[in-house]
Amino acid sequence: MIKLPDYVKKLISAFQKNGFQIYVVGGAVRDLLHGQEPPAGGENWDFATNAIPEEILRLFSDGYYNNKYGTVTIPVNKSLLLEVTTFRKEANYKDKRHPEIIEWADTLEEDLSRRDFTINAIAFDGRETIDPYNGRADLKNKLIRAVGDPDKRFSEDALRLMRAIRFSSQLGFLIEDKTRQSLQKNATLISRISWERIRDELLKIIGSAHPSEGILFMRNVGLLALILPELDICFTIPQKSPKRHHIYDVGTHLVMALKNCPSTDTVTRLAALLHDIGKAETFRRDKSTGLITFYNHEVVGTKLVEKIADRFHLSNLQKKKLITLVKYHQFTVSELQTDKAVRRFIRNIGQEYIQDMLNLRYADRVGSGARPTSWRFELFKKRLVEVQKEPFKVSDLKIDGNDVMKILQLKPGPAVGEILQSIFNDVEEGRIKNEREPLLDRLSSLTHDRDKH
Ligand code: ATP
Ligand code: MG
Repeated sequence: MIKLPDYVKKLISAFQKNGFQIYVVGGAVRDLLHGQEPPAGGENWDFATNAIPEEILRLFSDGYYNNKYGTVTIPVNKSLLLEVTTFRKEANYKDKRHPEIIEWADTLEEDLSRRDFTINAIAFDGRETIDPYNGRADLKNKLIRAVGDPDKRFSEDALRLMRAIRFSSQLGFLIEDKTRQSLQKNATLISRISWERIRDELLKIIGSAHPSEGILFMRNVGLLALILPELDICFTIPQKSPKRHHIYDVGTHLVMALKNCPSTDTVTRLAALLHDIGKAETFRRDKSTGLITFYNHEVVGTKLVEKIADRFHLSNLQKKKLITLVKYHQFTVSELQTDKAVRRFIRNIGQEYIQDMLNLRYADRVGSGARPTSWRFELFKKRLVEVQKEPFKVSDLKIDGNDVMKILQLKPGPAVGEILQSIFNDVEEGRIKNEREPLLDRLSSLTHDRDKH
């Protein structure tokens, strides 16, 4: 059966001793029944009780009540906060986004009836489960099923459209037939939901164990066309052509790249999903040869992902990373490249994104049916490491501005930086070693040069 951590057992018995009902509900029960470890953070536990906030606060003097949802926060210790919510019922959905009135419910059953999916509507009182919607059976059969009438539930709150797909992608569950048909029927209701909330679910899908299934499902029910039309259209863009290695249309390739992306970083995965998004606009097929080209698709793609990042209100950092990965994803990997070119590549993308860029290339390769790597790719990776060992930036030089000012008797100013830069160029080109002696000698020789003038 379910094993609860001691701090949860304590909380439950404090309520029960005082004659109140209390249950673990939602994701924690679902995950525990599904054989997962108890959630670590306090925010992943949800409790439902018949005690109203004032009564809860009487039981826990250090608890606090700070929102309109009837949730009381109870600190277990400094870093662990548990949230207890009075049984709720929801009625009068007006704008399909916010339940207009939130009222306390009298029974657990009523509280469970407003929850989204059967696997999320199981309660546990410390001894037994209360499961009026057969969530345990659906958990066993790996099914996402709406509680009650799916049409009604999706039109009450259209975020549930995304949540259904998100749980399906995270858990590897199918969406039960009626729920799926209803999802398809009600897909357009998503326009009632804010982009921020859609983004949160979309990023959870992309970060899940089965992201490609989630995206394909969104496509099949018509949600992708509504929230990411730039990606949806890619499924109509062929790229099989004479002398080209591609076996998939652009959309399928992008989903396959996401599927094979070795990174757990959500933005890198998103970049894998969107990296060729500029191909729809740049598609050209030569009439005589049949050859398909996508000239400058990464330039068009960069503009598109910028728009997408704004639509979903990504953070500045997320946006910058997404744009960088898409903009430079076409980087060349050739044994003929100079060290200087390899360094320029690193400078363009930024040292902090090298690994993500390599993961994107891996995803791109495997997602087009190619082998995961090649000797050229391996050599390139080695060279990335090598060129970073040498002084990579001016600040890696074994001399600094103080040396320059002392030896050349200069005051602080732009000239100091210019001299360091020119010496750095010499080191980078291999004309001088990055060791103090030779570098100081070079500085002294500059004094002599100056004296001659
Ligand atoms: P996770 O925390 O892993 O995302 P969860 O199931 O805990 O999964 P939450 O969003 O934390 O999901 O919500 C907790 C519970 O509240 C859910 O299990 C579900 O019972 C209920 N719930 C959350 N959002 C909705 C919703 N939009 N409609 C109906 N019930 C919901
Ligand atoms: Mg949760």
